[in-house]
Amino acid sequence: MDTLFSNVTVVTMDEELRVLFSAFVGVTDGKISYLSKEAPTEQPKQIINGEGMVLMPGLINCHTHLPMSPLRGYADDVDLATWLNDYIFPREDRLDGRCVKAATLLSIAECLRFGTTSVSDMYYFCDEVAQAVAESGIKANISRAITYFGDDFDFEKDSRCQELVALKEKWHGYDNSRIRIEAAIHGEYTSNHQVWEQVSDYAKAEGLRMHVHLSETKSEHEGAKERHGLTPAQVLDCHRVFDVPAIAAHCVWVEDEDMQLLAKRGVTAVHNPCSNLKLASGCARVQDMVKAGMNVALGTDSNASNNTLDLFEEIRAATYMAKGASLDPKALPAQAALLMATVCGARAQGRQDECGMIKLGLDADLILLDFTQPHLMPCHNVMSHLAYCVNGHDVVMTMVRGKILYSAGKYHTIDLNAVVKEFADYVMPKMFGREEEKLG
Ligand SMILES: [Zn+2]
Repeated sequence: MDTLFSNVTVVTMDEELRVLFSAFVGVTDGKISYLSKEAPTEQPKQIINGEGMVLMPGLINCHTHLPMSPLRGYADDVDLATWLNDYIFPREDRLDGRCVKAATLLSIAECLRFGTTSVSDMYYFCDEVAQAVAESGIKANISRAITYFGDDFDFEKDSRCQELVALKEKWHGYDNSRIRIEAAIHGEYTSNHQVWEQVSDYAKAEGLRMHVHLSETKSEHEGAKERHGLTPAQVLDCHRVFDVPAIAAHCVWVEDEDMQLLAKRGVTAVHNPCSNLKLASGCARVQDMVKAGMNVALGTDSNASNNTLDLFEEIRAATYMAKGASLDPKALPAQAALLMATVCGARAQGRQDECGMIKLGLDADLILLDFTQPHLMPCHNVMSHLAYCVNGHDVVMTMVRGKILYSAGKYHTIDLNAVVKEFADYVMPKMFGREEEKLG
């Protein structure tokens, strides 16, 4: 046994949603090898004293754009179209691979700090995203967002699609599938049926999953109905996008029929409550999607629209949004929101046999939270605290596959000082020019 967590409160997130007090969890060769109320007889190489601590599965962030960290706080309190067209797109035009690498490392440091062990990312310069993921030790499903506004799309000639092909060849399955590559269509409103069909056919042929933005805003949803006479979900389905397992980010405006369709097609909805509230996109009907049979996971969206990658904030926001929108305090209870951030996230990533629970044989993707702090006392109900009191700052250790990547303020795989220096020396001057440089 490599590592033993002793005398710790264990939140398993397994089928019985057990909370075990003063328990022991062992890790051997990156896997969970021991779980009991009794101490093991075997002597571990290292013991982590878990007194006053809670051990739970690492959180899974199923929709984000890691390289957008330089844009955090750059444009707030505007609508999505203004945010994108007037602020985000012009700055993104200045990005290069070097910026993306540093920006992604900063975001991964933030993820690890807040207890996230796996992410589903959609962006471009994905080779640099993959390099940062590879170095850091976090798990990621990485996708290259395809957008296309012409009318003669050819997968073989399109540079974005060729980037996807190269990415798949180089990174899909890296480090025993710690990195997986997915296909991505940015959205219905940023591409056409040629793109949907050709990208989907490639994904199907190569056994890749799909990541799309779907019905995020009312104007996007209504626009599709005007253009096609069909909702975004219906039109993408007609053009084979859901022929492979897919993640549909947002699903704020999906209709009852869409939910039935998406459930039948095995599509996961990724709920991003903070981003949807901040951009005033609306309140996704999570309870109705679950009732329709859909898997619903959680995401932060980018730290430019949120403005943090703290998934504990999304857990709380998801519960509050469901209760407030339905006028029912029983809507989306603590356990349900915690499942969305763990078990349902693993299912969304195709990693359900690998992580999302504390269970023998699964990867040791684990986080430890300090429950001895004033804001967590007393503790009548651990699950309730995890949903309603905890935030990412309470995480004191983050482990992926048995390897500690973050503990007590220190990163073990990321040189944060070097990343900060790279931001000051290169990323901020490149993206914001001299005027911002002065502001530091
Ligand atoms: Zn997004």
